[in-house]
Amino acid sequence: MTSSEYGPSDHGAQAEPGAYREPEIEGQSSAGPEGAGVSPMNTLEQVAQLVRTCTDCPLGRGRTNAVPGEGNPQAEVMFIGEGPGYQEDRQGRPFVGPAGKLLEGLLASIGSHRDDVFIANMVKCRPPGNRDPSPAEMTACTKYLDRQIELVNPKLIVTLGRFAFGRYFPGEGITKARGKLREKDGRKIFPVLHPAAVLRREELRPTMIEDFKAISEILESGMEATGMEPGVTAPEAPQPAQLSFVNAPGQAAVPAAQAETSTVNVEEAPRPEQLTLF
Ligand code: SF4
Ligand code: URA
Repeated sequence: MTSSEYGPSDHGAQAEPGAYREPEIEGQSSAGPEGAGVSPMNTLEQVAQLVRTCTDCPLGRGRTNAVPGEGNPQAEVMFIGEGPGYQEDRQGRPFVGPAGKLLEGLLASIGSHRDDVFIANMVKCRPPGNRDPSPAEMTACTKYLDRQIELVNPKLIVTLGRFAFGRYFPGEGITKARGKLREKDGRKIFPVLHPAAVLRREELRPTMIEDFKAISEILESGMEATGMEPGVTAPEAPQPAQLSFVNAPGQAAVPAAQAETSTVNVEEAPRPEQLTLF
């Protein structure tokens, strides 16, 4: 929780070298970031390029690399995490540290892969010391995520942990909400715990596995038959096949204090034996 790492850094707000390929935009004049007026975000690559040079909040000063997000531009499912951790900041890619390994394992457990989905974060630059992103930082950064969601237009958004969940349902607790399909602003939202929380709390793993099973069931069901009302959680009423994601029989609810702890900060205290999947 050190915010003292703030301040000028050698890496400051410099653009990431090398990685950027010029986007091919038909019929568009080159009003790039230096151009007058608002830079376009017509493609995911344009969004990514703006992110890589963004200095709209203090996190831009401390980053090594911005982490715009990546995946299938036509993904049916979009995962939203919190923000880059140590490994992500080094590599400029989301979920490539221990939490990412777990996410990949969870995806594999439902026959999916990170290239099939789109993975993004609430903030695109690493908060110093893996502290929580501030409301102001999330607000400054939301324009990029908003546009990514519009461009990918996923059928289902899976929020990872409490910050991404709070984007849609502020003030609610993730522990109660997880594993229940919701709708907000015309989008289907499925909240789950953050993988880093699961790494810290081994007892949360069965819940997480169950929630990922539910993701594949939701997609297979075409999401039509869930009986959801806008803004309403999945019904208690009998729909046995589809309710398997609410809570596995006999599975205890996760205590709030456990599930709502900070999430990205696993790199600092990894317990290697916990990184084994399932
Ligand atoms: Fe810009 Fe978002 Fe990075 Fe802040 S966190 S500098 S708003 S890209
Ligand atoms: N945790 C997150 O929330 N996002 C990442 O990209 C990595 C870890």
